[in-house]
Amino acid sequence: MVERTLIHSLQRTLHSFTFPHITMIELGIPPLILQQALQLVALHFRYTVLHTNTIAAKLYNLRRKFRCSNAHLQHTIENRIAKAHSTLMISSTYPGPPFMPRSVTLAKPKNKGKFYATFLKPIVSAGWLRQIRLKYPQTPLPPSGNVSSRLHAHFLLHHLSLCNNLYKLPPYLTMCAHRNPMSLLRLRSQSHQSILTHMLTIVDNKRDAYDSRGCLYCPSGVTGSEIHLILECPATSDVALDLIQLLTCLLYDTCQPDWSTLTTHQQTSPILGDPPSTLPKKFHHVWLQSTLPAILDYVIHLETVLYNMT
Ligand SMILES: [Zn+2]
Repeated sequence: MVERTLIHSLQRTLHSFTFPHITMIELGIPPLILQQALQLVALHFRYTVLHTNTIAAKLYNLRRKFRCSNAHLQHTIENRIAKAHSTLMISSTYPGPPFMPRSVTLAKPKNKGKFYATFLKPIVSAGWLRQIRLKYPQTPLPPSGNVSSRLHAHFLLHHLSLCNNLYKLPPYLTMCAHRNPMSLLRLRSQSHQSILTHMLTIVDNKRDAYDSRGCLYCPSGVTGSEIHLILECPATSDVALDLIQLLTCLLYDTCQPDWSTLTTHQQTSPILGDPPSTLPKKFHHVWLQSTLPAILDYVIHLETVLYNMT
């Protein structure tokens, strides 16, 4: 309920009305169940390592020891913390003291809690990825096949964002702090009102199927998707030429496969702010620094062209 309210309010604020899962991935907001698990596991750390002398910690440790032999209510803190460990798949050390990485053992006492939370975030991110893959089996890495749904279309283009730490804002939102990345966010999250497959037209309380809207500027039968408008449509594909030239040069300079050998999905991903899937992760930051300003220029230009045609 809390999660739904938060996501709806974010969607209203950002005009990003797509699937909640896409909004959450694009903004680095893990599902509430994982957030709670992180906080409960961190509480276990505080009670068993940091603040063992408080009354709350002593009571917790006493009850924790006898958790199995006593019939504790399901929602007691002991049971919720035990469940949180299994949610994050770190129950091997529970109910004993938690496993601590070197960064935590070597840290000054006042920093240990902060470092432990930092250590947990990639674990939460991995748990989130497991949930996504369980729920949407059509998202192998890299995904393939014809587009079967909005989520499939999203993962085809942006599957690389699933390799990152999901627990933080993606770089395209933070890197060009002086520029407004909202239009790019809407393009990536299938919420741009100038793109036919993105449009919000609800009949019977259901959004149109992804492939049910044809391009207005092409013969019937051509889906008006973002890939079509960016790369294929005679009315709008010219807008991307300058950016494609920049991306072609950068691919060449970084010894990546030639632009012309890429599929339309692989070409659209870098146009929308993902590094090429073949580029090693250590170069992602430099790649985005070199391309993001041109990408944001491109998005504004495309919006103007689309706006003037309607
Ligand atoms: Zn077209």
